[in-house]
Amino acid sequence: MKTNRVGVQLAFVFSAFFLMVLVSYFFVRNILEKQIDTAAAGALETAELRLYATLQESELIMTEASYLIRNRLFPGQKEGIQDFLREYAKWIGEADGSVCYSSGFLDLYGYFRGQFVSSYGWEAPDSYVPQERPWYIAARENPYKTAFTALYTNTVTGERVISVSKSLYDPEGEFYGVIAMEISIKNIAEYVENLSIAAGGYGMMLNQDLAFIIHPDPTRIGEYMGQFSRNHKKITDILRSEEKDTAAVQVLGRGNKIMVTYYKQLFNGWYVGLATPLGSYYRGLWYMSLVLSAQGIILVSLISYLLIRLNREKIKSETENRSKSSFLAKMSHEIRTPMNSILGMSELIMRKDPPADIYEYISIINQAGTSLLAIINDILDLSKIESGQMKLEPKFYYFSSLINDVINMIHIRFADRPVDFFVNTDSAIPARLFGDEVRIRQILLNLLNNAAKYTKEGFVALTIKSKIIGEGKLELEIGVSDSGIGIKEADLKKLFTEFTRLDLSHNQGIEGTGLGLPIVLNLCKAMEGDITVESSYGNGSTFTARIAQGFTDLKKTAALTQPPAKGVLILEERPRFYRFLNAALEELDVSPRRAETPEVFIRELEEGKNDFAFVSSRYAADSVAAVGKNPSPPHLVIMVEKGEGTAYRDINCILMPIYSITMANVLNGTSIGRSLARDHHRAEFTAPSIGVLIVDDIATNLRVAKELMAAYGMIIDTCLSGS
Ligand code: ADP
Repeated sequence: MKTNRVGVQLAFVFSAFFLMVLVSYFFVRNILEKQIDTAAAGALETAELRLYATLQESELIMTEASYLIRNRLFPGQKEGIQDFLREYAKWIGEADGSVCYSSGFLDLYGYFRGQFVSSYGWEAPDSYVPQERPWYIAARENPYKTAFTALYTNTVTGERVISVSKSLYDPEGEFYGVIAMEISIKNIAEYVENLSIAAGGYGMMLNQDLAFIIHPDPTRIGEYMGQFSRNHKKITDILRSEEKDTAAVQVLGRGNKIMVTYYKQLFNGWYVGLATPLGSYYRGLWYMSLVLSAQGIILVSLISYLLIRLNREKIKSETENRSKSSFLAKMSHEIRTPMNSILGMSELIMRKDPPADIYEYISIINQAGTSLLAIINDILDLSKIESGQMKLEPKFYYFSSLINDVINMIHIRFADRPVDFFVNTDSAIPARLFGDEVRIRQILLNLLNNAAKYTKEGFVALTIKSKIIGEGKLELEIGVSDSGIGIKEADLKKLFTEFTRLDLSHNQGIEGTGLGLPIVLNLCKAMEGDITVESSYGNGSTFTARIAQGFTDLKKTAALTQPPAKGVLILEERPRFYRFLNAALEELDVSPRRAETPEVFIRELEEGKNDFAFVSSRYAADSVAAVGKNPSPPHLVIMVEKGEGTAYRDINCILMPIYSITMANVLNGTSIGRSLARDHHRAEFTAPSIGVLIVDDIATNLRVAKELMAAYGMIIDTCLSGS
């Protein structure tokens, strides 16, 4: 079991560690992703600016050239235009590569009033139809604007180029031609292809129709992006929507590697893209996980080591503790044997009617011995509980006999002081229960003894209720209330701690060890229950113990064979006494009537209106007389209190406390007149014809037992060995 516990603790530590790695992983992943997104957006923006600068320059040249052509040249003269174009191209060419121009200028040409003219004097072959060329079409499609063609290959040089073109209009607004400039996109392409934010990454460019115009994989050039995969299609859908740019879409890119891509639309309608291999995208994350895991494993190993060590020490100390407890248990057992001899022998001496002074000494020895035995029993119990040897021994038992025994044992505790003892038990408690009767008796006696010990005047009440909590299982709720010294709020927590006695200034002269309540708590727990306490300092306390018991049939512990048809009358003037009496009857579904005055009660007795009449003993004489006057009198029952005898023969008496079980016996007629038996301390009983064999391995014990039993006149044999 212990190893299991370390296992659970270790499992917990490991799970906590993995949870931590997982949480950190997601957090860092988030941060990294954001960082990469920002870096990508930055790179794309820079690319856009660079491209903007390049194309802007071409646009300026176009605007300037169209202005100069229109104003300075006579339209239609091929040589004139050619001269102008050559000169102008030269000027641009010289500027190209210098500080102000970086566009990769190649050629300046155009189609003017039906003639194709190039700055290099290139003579177009017949197959070359300017109106079908992309630069011409682009310019015509975008009147008054500078147009850009898609990427194409120069027919002469084979270079990848684009053209910038613009339609020309005369002062009357009549279209008369197109001026165009071819620029190499080598520089741009290099720049774009090398666009990258992580190792293995690359850049791309797409035209307005989302066909690749720059891509490190030449097979992709001219292909439409949407055709490659579902995710490519997704990108084109997003770009065509309002958004115009995308973030972190995974696609299969160059070399069939998974790439994380970003796209952005440029000012001229083209798109620039950036791809980063998934591996480098998450590289930071792997590093982080690795570092975190390494740190965590060191930490977890350390914790595990400490846990295992701590646990080993705990197991060691628990074993030591157990052996201490079992030593104590053995010792207590050993001490009990000679204690029995001391008690037995002192009892025997007292029975022999010794001289008064000897009797006094011996009775002091006997009392001290009894207290010592009680303490030893408590220590024995606690040691058993601590060493795990306390085992319940459940058997079937009768609830009524348990409760009668306990009341018989406890009610003499109230004989010498003004404390009234009340009992109320639930009549529905099944007559036969299954549980450890001895241990329940111990709980009841402990709580009632405490209540008796700590109550100088007032009352002590025992209430037992039951509640079914499962198949064949019920909960007994045992409440013990008193009007005693009470317990301070601050002390309530300490109550169930071993060897704790509270409020010693008030407890002076009261014997105790502080072991009773811890034992009770442990017994309750062993019976799937618990104990709680409520107290008001100076006013009294209520202890409530709950324990589970088994049962097989619901036959009630207290029930009437026949309800009293003419009813029950009571004369009891003290409210609390009446309340408990009434409760006992209500448990049996009988609602009694209360006689308001003794006179009313006597008159009703004479008239014989009731089946039963209960009266407290102080009105016994008058009541007996009244019954005598009635030919068919009710059953008169005199309620006798502790210490009171009764001088009336043939009159039913019931000894307080009265509760549902004794009440049922009286009303059923099964125990009328017998209730006082419990006051007789000495048994007047002999059995001369019975033979008894007493076996014990200690000779003194045999001697004591034999002497104690001699009073019964039996034939007694003793034996030192069971075999
Ligand atoms: P003991 O009675 O032998 O001292 P217990 O464990 O039974 O030991 O009780 C512990 C302490 O709790 C007692 O010393 C007493 O201070 C307090 N106590 C228990 N029962 C009551 C009660 N009914 N009224 C007031 N104090 C109580």
